[in-house]
Amino acid sequence: MKFGGTSMAGTERIRRVANIVRRQQAAGHEVAVVVSAMAGETDRLVGFCREANALYDPAEYDVVVASGEQVTAGLLALTLQSMGCKARSWLGWQLPVRTVEAHAKARVAGIDAPEMIASLERGEIAVIPGFQGISDDGRLTTLGRGGSDTSAVAVAAAIKADRCDIYTDVDGVYTTDPRIVAKAHKLKAVTYEEMLELASVGAKVLQTRSVGLAMKEGVRIQVLSSFLGDDAIPADELPGTLIVSDEEMDQLVEKGDMERQLVTGIAHDKNEAKVILTRVPDRPGAVANIFEPLAAASINVDMIIQNVGRDKGETDVTFTVPQADLARAQALLEDKRDVIGYNRIITDSKIAKISVVGVGMKSHAGVASTMFRALSDRGINIQAISTSEIKISVMIDEDETELAVRVLHTAYGLDASEEAAE
Ligand code: ADP
Ligand code: ASP
Ligand code: MG
Repeated sequence: MKFGGTSMAGTERIRRVANIVRRQQAAGHEVAVVVSAMAGETDRLVGFCREANALYDPAEYDVVVASGEQVTAGLLALTLQSMGCKARSWLGWQLPVRTVEAHAKARVAGIDAPEMIASLERGEIAVIPGFQGISDDGRLTTLGRGGSDTSAVAVAAAIKADRCDIYTDVDGVYTTDPRIVAKAHKLKAVTYEEMLELASVGAKVLQTRSVGLAMKEGVRIQVLSSFLGDDAIPADELPGTLIVSDEEMDQLVEKGDMERQLVTGIAHDKNEAKVILTRVPDRPGAVANIFEPLAAASINVDMIIQNVGRDKGETDVTFTVPQADLARAQALLEDKRDVIGYNRIITDSKIAKISVVGVGMKSHAGVASTMFRALSDRGINIQAISTSEIKISVMIDEDETELAVRVLHTAYGLDASEEAAE
């Protein structure tokens, strides 16, 4: 069981969480619980790091930001104990959650948990702070924002759990963010592949890495709400959204539990920025000169367009980078201006990426043209396009994000019927 920040925000909510956990144990399960910091806490801690030192050392940043989860893990164990349950906390270094690669965005290499497993077998509830791990050299690490989802999947894989229930503030995965489109509807199931793509283009209900790990390890995930009364449908009856393999999805469709749609979901991302380099020489090596310094600085480039060469053997190159990396990217490119040989650098943070995702696209034509027509009918201009086998993304003006998501939701026939929406 994993509980997110909103579910853990304050002792009163932690008591509700403890009740859900206790009921799951009473239903005959051994339970390990992964918790997030209280909502807003990690942002507050990140703010302190920035104030202390704008160019902070990521290893010390990890020491600071991992503390939010330590507090909630201890509090949940205390609350469970107050209800007469046996419970104890297991910090990242105690399990241990072994991680590799960079601080602040470490990857889980594995969890060895013989002591925790023995404790579970003695009927003790294990409470694990999410988001944190330990590096090869024994230092504290964190898994990137939203990383408690990944902690939960890694723990589930390590103890070979029957299921990994991700409790959050919505009751499942919807066709799009239900806070933006009231007519979004809840999906009974989503395939790993689609969820991976949706998460990576902005559906933050699950951290992208958690879905990748679950797919690799075959962990069954259910996304469900922690904000339900005592009379709610029990988790074992699967009231939420299941993240499943293709085969399991086929079975659900055959049984009539799921309908196959061309488009499964729509996501948006306002965290990217656009960079345009004008009049780049149109010759071999020119784009390599642009992207090599960015790669060396670990700046992820997403959409890329190179326009058709102009008459004088020159071309404009447009691409996107995370907004947080824009200043660094711009400085690097200005530094390399002579090597690259561009004329001007133009940047814009007021853009958004809207993506439609669905495995149905593999075998059906016309998904892209529906998108382009629906947007143009509402006067929304497309600045860039990128595609994968099961996804189409467009870049638009940030102010048009909500409108675009709503329009596309209707265009692909995803709006919930009136009765269903009630
Ligand atoms: P937690 O703190 O529990 O980890 P998050 O805020 O990380 O919760 O994720 C839950 C949020 O994800 C929801 O409140 C919702 O606004 C957002 N969200 C975005 N896209 C979707 C979607 N397709 N389905 C459900 N929720 C979504
Ligand atoms: N508390 C961390 C964050 O806000 C991890 C998480 O909640 O998943 O990013
Ligand atoms: Mg989250």
